[in-house]
Amino acid sequence: MAKDKSPQRIAKELAETTALQTLYKAIENLADENISTPCFGNELFTMDFIHGDDIGDICTPCPVFTLCKNYAVIARPEAGVWAGRRWNSTHEKPIITESESND
Ligand code: SF4
Repeated sequence: MAKDKSPQRIAKELAETTALQTLYKAIENLADENISTPCFGNELFTMDFIHGDDIGDICTPCPVFTLCKNYAVIARPEAGVWAGRRWNSTHEKPIITESESND
């Protein structure tokens, strides 16, 4: 039998879900206007060997930056770059580039 979740855990999960739904809805609304976020289709946002700080400037003009950051602050996603940085401390790595990682 599954262990009951604490009220705090339930509240956090609800906040994460709400923030993510709000972000996705805003991205959907942009798509309806044929506007995509700067990260759309950009594999740099999912590569582990790229430090989030290296691509933060790409996010700066993003029309959903605040919503993206809001979700990341709440959820601290394990993977990827959100609002210009990584949010899980286990993924904070020294800045290295692909060419340096192949040395
Ligand atoms: S702020 Fe978020 S949605 Fe916008 S480009 Fe950056 S990662 Fe993508």
